[in-house]
Amino acid sequence: MSTLFLRTLREDPADAEVPSHKLMVRGGYVRRAAPGVYSWLPLGKIVLENVSEIVREEMNAIGGQELLLPALLPREYYEATGRWEDYGDTLFRLQDRKGADYLLGPTHEEVFAGLVKGEYTSYKDFPVWLYQIQEKFRDEARPRAGVLRGREFHMKDAYSFDIDDEGLAASYERFRAAYVRIFERLGLEYVVVSATAGAMGGSKSEEFLAVAPSGEDTFVRSTGSGYAANVEAVEVPAPEALPIEGLPEAVDHHTPDTATIRTLVDFLNAAGLGRDFSEADTLKNVMVKTREPGSEDWELLAIGVPGDREVDMKRLEAALEPAEVAVVDEKDFEANPFLVKGYIGPRALLDNKVRYLVDPRVVTGTRWVTGADRPEHHVVDLVAGRDFTPDGTIDVADVRDGDPSPDGQGTLYTARGIEIGHVFQLGRKYTDAIELDALGPDGKPKRVTMGSYGIGVSRVVASIVEQSHDEKGIVWPRAVAPADVHVVGTGKGDQIEEALRIAGELEERGLRVLVDDRKGVSPGVKFTDAELLGIPTTVIVGRGLKDGVVELRDRADGARDEVALADIVDHAV
Ligand code: ATP
Ligand code: MG
Ligand code: MG
Ligand code: MG
Repeated sequence: MSTLFLRTLREDPADAEVPSHKLMVRGGYVRRAAPGVYSWLPLGKIVLENVSEIVREEMNAIGGQELLLPALLPREYYEATGRWEDYGDTLFRLQDRKGADYLLGPTHEEVFAGLVKGEYTSYKDFPVWLYQIQEKFRDEARPRAGVLRGREFHMKDAYSFDIDDEGLAASYERFRAAYVRIFERLGLEYVVVSATAGAMGGSKSEEFLAVAPSGEDTFVRSTGSGYAANVEAVEVPAPEALPIEGLPEAVDHHTPDTATIRTLVDFLNAAGLGRDFSEADTLKNVMVKTREPGSEDWELLAIGVPGDREVDMKRLEAALEPAEVAVVDEKDFEANPFLVKGYIGPRALLDNKVRYLVDPRVVTGTRWVTGADRPEHHVVDLVAGRDFTPDGTIDVADVRDGDPSPDGQGTLYTARGIEIGHVFQLGRKYTDAIELDALGPDGKPKRVTMGSYGIGVSRVVASIVEQSHDEKGIVWPRAVAPADVHVVGTGKGDQIEEALRIAGELEERGLRVLVDDRKGVSPGVKFTDAELLGIPTTVIVGRGLKDGVVELRDRADGARDEVALADIVDHAV
């Protein structure tokens, strides 16, 4: 420590609110360079590498092959899949000296798919599992909590390529199992939650959440079964989960045919909205317009209202207050090309809450719109006045403690978590966009199917600190700690020499050692630093040395033992 590039701080940084942010800065693990952009100092870099190494070992163990792709990417890759636009403001876009557009990779589906397309041509080449550990760039709207939500951060991103759906399912299970092993080894308390509404079918996706009150994700768990889900997935079906394919291309939804009604009823019932719907319900659509006080502009809402129209209007008015609410005559509606602002589902009204999914099929007035014309899927929280766009941040849902579990077993309770990993069966979304095919055994091309699997390596480091600290500092689990033993020499005599000697012996026994050999630094400061840094075992070579004893401290449980100098190495190992 006399030469280590490390300065600890006694005060919390002014901008820090969560424990990991405070302690990682105070312990000299990271330093802020810009909002959401951090430098990793020597001890921090070691922890980051330790986490990366565990991830790497488990990826290699399932047959993953490590690559390193560029972070600086030409626009063309993301143009092909529409993400150059779709990614919105979160994408860092830039131009080279010739004016060509580039971006800094926020995730690499396109690039990996493109790479595989260039190298592999036959079904015999598949499956293949590729991964990298690399900086990612996202211009987050709210970078926060140090490295928990950075704008530049470290991610392990992996991609599976298979020839058929069974292959993809198997690849997904492989990665999922590896993730379980990774988070077990990291000593994290975590839950696996479904990230898309299972009942709605579609592609499968699960998130790994580290349980922590500072987490931005709310998840629910059932008291009666293993059911767990991100609240985003419980009530609000993800866009790809909507059975849009089943609907006719363009139907006047005021006089829909029987098949359309049936589809809509099925949709509502599958969504698990808390009651059963019949054909009669969907016919009672009411067109309503609203406007903010003082505003000239009316916005139109299509309300799917089951039951008594009068009662529901009162509820609606109450819920939308202070906005003005009026029913629109259907003839006006037909005559004016209003853009329907939202569709409020029946459950919301029944619950006296107006929060619901905007069904993309009804957002352009009187026509169902499907396929390429389908506007962006929107979820509007009318109570909070927020409009959530589909970048994965639908962050409020109406799930409350005590609600019945969707699987019928037990009731739900909510808790907070940090998304540390995400596994996703993408299917053919990206491979369709770039036409990634392989020749099948019959000589015919087969469209490859893909999965993607991310772990926020830098976020994991902070999540570990969130779960493992006390008022004095960090308590690293041994698997990721920057050292196994922290040998502290105090006093002016032989203690420092002796501390260095013990450190040397411990290293010979295969331990990783940090030694505090600073001169002119008080024992109190050294102890405080040791507790802040959080290395699992501390050996203190102090006053007892003249009597042939040193002290052994355990950072996690605070236990202290006097140990004979001759025995210390055996004890610490
Ligand atoms: P979040 O919901 O927290 O914004 P995400 O769903 O956008 O995360 P993914 O696209 O699934 O993130 O990326 C894979 C993993 O990368 C996440 O599970 C998370 O651990 C990590 N990650 C995502 N964004 C950040 C960030 N801004 N800072 C640090 N880690 C991140
Ligand atoms: Mg997320
Ligand atoms: Mg995000
Ligand atoms: Mg995610």
